Amino acid sequence: MIDCHIHISLDGIDFKKARENGKREEIFDIIRKTLKEYRKRGIYVLRDGGDNLEISCTARKIAKEEGIILKSPVKALYKKGMYGNFLGEELEDLYDFKKIFKYLKIKQLDHLKIILSGLVNFKKYKDVGELQFTQKELKYIVDLAKDSNIPTMAHVNSPYGVNMAVECGIDTIEHGYFITQRELYKMKEKDTIWIPTLSPLGNLVINKDKRFEENIDVIKRVYEEHLSSVNLAYEMGVKMAVGSDSGCYGVTHVDGTFDEINHLVKAGIKKEEVIRMGIENGIKVCNLSESEKEYLNYLQ
Ligand SMILES: [Zn+2]
Repeated sequence: MIDCHIHISLDGIDFKKARENGKREEIFDIIRKTLKEYRKRGIYVLRDGGDNLEISCTARKIAKEEGIILKSPVKALYKKGMYGNFLGEELEDLYDFKKIFKYLKIKQLDHLKIILSGLVNFKKYKDVGELQFTQKELKYIVDLAKDSNIPTMAHVNSPYGVNMAVECGIDTIEHGYFITQRELYKMKEKDTIWIPTLSPLGNLVINKDKRFEENIDVIKRVYEEHLSSVNLAYEMGVKMAVGSDSGCYGVTHVDGTFDEINHLVKAGIKKEEVIRMGIENGIKVCNLSESEKEYLNYLQ
């Protein structure tokens, strides 16, 4: 299997503790153990969503030693003062972007991650925060990445946010909560791949998590709507891949990948189909080289 959306620097249990551990060398022992477990359970390719301490960048080397392919954005990019500080680096303007992009290229980023909207607000239905970049800014960023053959991923929720990302030529839509049929048509037309990350909300619902007990009605409603959108996308032939968002609260590494598969099955896609598209589209999403594809074949 391939998991197209994880955060190796986090553990899915205790955000604060993981962030503190992140500043210590021991984090890499924990990560090595996690990566061994991924490999043992047949998950051979991982794509990280970034962290500001560049832990995923170091984890990429450890993964290689453990026979796993881990793709890292080094750092995600977000707009100054908005959501995303633990995921990467803030930008004030395009001048900043050019500077940081140069740095990311030196660090050999595998993909560029842009944070375009906030998170799904569990307290207020349909609130996802403001969009962080204008269409003009985003287009510039995506075009520059394309010039360097770097794939792009957008963390984005809301129909207008997804629409903007697709129009700008982003390769993958991450999360995409509140997406509508209109955006799905556009994605099909432009061959954009969707990674719906059902687990962060779905696991809270299924595990009857106490932490968000008072918000469970909103969470359940959003999760169920997301399941229907995934079903619609599948019927329409929009490409999707498996991405669990493991590391995020309520989604633990390795088990998270299997949780995501189960949520996709719950959305009405046959398990064999989930596995098939997870691998086929995952290979594209992770931009695997010929030798990496050969290696994956050999493992399977
Ligand atoms: Zn994420």
